[in-house]
Amino acid sequence: MRLKNFIYLFIPVLVTCQEAKDTEIWGPVPEEVYTISDSAPPTDAIILFDGSDLSKWKPRWGKDRSEWQINKDGSVTVVFDDTGGIETKENFGSVQLHVEWKTSEDTSFTNQKRSNSGVFLQGRYEIQILDSYKSPTYVNGQAGSVYKQYIPLVNASRKPGEWQSYDIIFDAPKFNSDGKKIKSGYFTVFHNGVLIHNHVEILGTTENVGLPKNISHGDGPIALQNHCCSQISFRNIWVRELN
Ligand code: MG
Repeated sequence: MRLKNFIYLFIPVLVTCQEAKDTEIWGPVPEEVYTISDSAPPTDAIILFDGSDLSKWKPRWGKDRSEWQINKDGSVTVVFDDTGGIETKENFGSVQLHVEWKTSEDTSFTNQKRSNSGVFLQGRYEIQILDSYKSPTYVNGQAGSVYKQYIPLVNASRKPGEWQSYDIIFDAPKFNSDGKKIKSGYFTVFHNGVLIHNHVEILGTTENVGLPKNISHGDGPIALQNHCCSQISFRNIWVRELN
C-alpha cells in the first residue's frame, strides 16, 4: 500500500477512536471560594478595610499625618484639609481589588475639584475617582479613567452621595535586572459592575504633567489619594493576590 493511501485510510480511523475523556482534565482542582454577595469579600481575600480600623494603612504623599475619619457605618471619610493620602503597609503584585467609594453631596465645586481621589496600584498607576455624574471634565481624567491614559468605555457614575464600586484586575508590569520593562502591565476595570476597561495596556506611571514613565520597580502598595476638594468616603476594601 502506498503511504498516501495509508494516511487516507487509517488517520480518520485513529481520529474517530478518540473519546471525550481524552480531552478531560481532572486536576489540579481549583480552590473553592465563596461569595455572599457581589461586594462581600471572597474567602481567600485579604481585607484591607472593613470599617473597624486603618491598621493595614499608613500615611502617604509627603505628609506625616493622615486624619481619615472612621464612621459608625463602617466607612472612612477624608476631609480635604491637606491631610494627605494613605497606602497599604503591604506591597502587592498582580491583584484583584475591590473598593467602594462615595463622593460628596456638596456639589459647589466643579470639574476636577469634586471629590477628586484615586486608587493607585503599586503606588504608581491610578484609576481616577471623581464625581463625574453630569459633571464634565477632561474625559481621560473623569471617574474610571486610567488617568491621562485611557478614557472609560462608558460613564457608569452614580449620583453624588451614592455608594459606588470599582473592581480592578491589575496585571503588574515586569522589569529585568537591567531595569528594562520586559512585560507591560494591564488593567481590566468594572465600575458599579459595568466593564469600563477591557485589558488595556498600561503605558507607564500616572503623570499629571508630561508623559508616562517606565522606571523599574517591584511590588508596591495600594494607595488612596486625597486630592481635592470636597469629601470622599471609602468602605469595604479587599484584595486577592494573583501572582
Ligand atoms: Mg485623582
